Amino acid sequence: MNVTVFGTGYVGLVTGACLADVGHNVMCIDIDEAKIEGLKQGRIPIYEPGLEPMVLRNHEEGRLHFTTDAAEGVKFGALQFIAVGTPPDEDGSADLQYVLAVARTIGEHMDDYKVIIDKSTVPVGTADKVRTVVAGVLAERGTDLPFDVCSNPEFLKEGAAIEDFTKSARIVVGTDSERVRELMRECYAPYSRNHDKLMFMDVRAAELTKYAANAMLATKISFMNEIANLAERLGADVEQVRLGIGSDPRIGYHFIYPGCGYGGSCFPKDVQALARTAVQVGYEPELLNAVEAVNNRQKQVLFDKLSQAFDGDLTGRTIAVWGLSFKPNTDDMRAAPSRVLMESLWDAGARVRAFDPEAMHETIRIYGERDGLTLVEHPNEAVEGADALVVCTEWKQFRTVDFTWLKSKLKHPVLVDGRNMYDPRQVKAAGLMYYAIGRADSL
Ligand code: NAD
Repeated sequence: MNVTVFGTGYVGLVTGACLADVGHNVMCIDIDEAKIEGLKQGRIPIYEPGLEPMVLRNHEEGRLHFTTDAAEGVKFGALQFIAVGTPPDEDGSADLQYVLAVARTIGEHMDDYKVIIDKSTVPVGTADKVRTVVAGVLAERGTDLPFDVCSNPEFLKEGAAIEDFTKSARIVVGTDSERVRELMRECYAPYSRNHDKLMFMDVRAAELTKYAANAMLATKISFMNEIANLAERLGADVEQVRLGIGSDPRIGYHFIYPGCGYGGSCFPKDVQALARTAVQVGYEPELLNAVEAVNNRQKQVLFDKLSQAFDGDLTGRTIAVWGLSFKPNTDDMRAAPSRVLMESLWDAGARVRAFDPEAMHETIRIYGERDGLTLVEHPNEAVEGADALVVCTEWKQFRTVDFTWLKSKLKHPVLVDGRNMYDPRQVKAAGLMYYAIGRADSL
């Protein structure tokens, strides 16, 4: 099939590459000329495991094309995926300007039947808005070409995006059109061979499914962080509690790790946007508000623990930070807990020596060459001359640490572990003070 994908970010580029990889002809279109120029020359704008070889191979074999030309992009595909950003507006609701701009573009350039597919995460009712915009533009052109709009939310997670797209648990499609069902079935057939993964439902149910999934996952995290904060104050080890509750199949072990708060481009904005939608329809979203409030407070926990370790005065201290991305296997730093920590440290007059395996260029893009920030090439280098070490992101290479070596390097024996990666007994045996999340025993 000929497929057009608007947006070459985490979702658009992965969607385009994965669809090309199973034989579809894909045109990826973006308004960012530098990104498209780079992609044409084989430069992948983001770090995502497995993405680079897949993009290069499909581009070389002529199934994956890149353009900034709207007319060319729209004419190319019978299917038009919209995978552009939906960032939070000032009041927390999803900003639909990019999605609706694409809708206008499609209306301006289409000359035959199109299926317009909302893959971006969009509030309930957006498919109707897209339909209205496209119909309006077609009316201005004096034509009424046929088209359908459907919802096909994306559930991939950064860091495992290819794996998630190609082996997804389900492919949700919201539509009431038989023609769309057939075309979407054909598009996804190569990824739906083992068993039928396509779940057809109403458009509004599909739109809400995406927000409900992210809100549920964010709720699990905030719930566990609340229990961790309680455990700490009650003299219990939350890691034992985690195992105790996870063993109940109704609860399960997935996604109940306490930590220093969720970040990334999705959970914070999607929880906020769903809460905003609720208010707009006259419903007070008490649980969603609490999920967000707990998370915002949790992002301060690392700084609070450091502050506690240095008697409330971090002026002139140098803090080593391991891990800057909001989670492992990505370079994405949107809403990352590391940012809250570093900015609090700078406000308190401290300096940061940081290392991340993939997010260094993103850190430079965000903060530039600023006073108080030194980026180093190796985790060991970050610790040189530092007063304390904080682990923000659970990258694999941080899992094993020679604590005796660490103690000998740090000016003060302070290790703050935002991801509960270490065994408190081993850390303490090396003479380090261990501050973890919800582990009273470690203090
Ligand atoms: P992103 O910011 O990485 O990429 C968006 C891209 O869209 C950018 O390259 C931008 O230049 C481009 N763009 C903007 N306007 C355009 C236009 N008019 N025409 C063509 N391109 C345009 O965003 P992302 O992380 O890929 O997210 C995209 C959507 O998918 C969002 O709604 C997000 O909530 C959702 N989503 C994201 C993830 C994730 O893990 N990142 C997972 C599931 C769903």
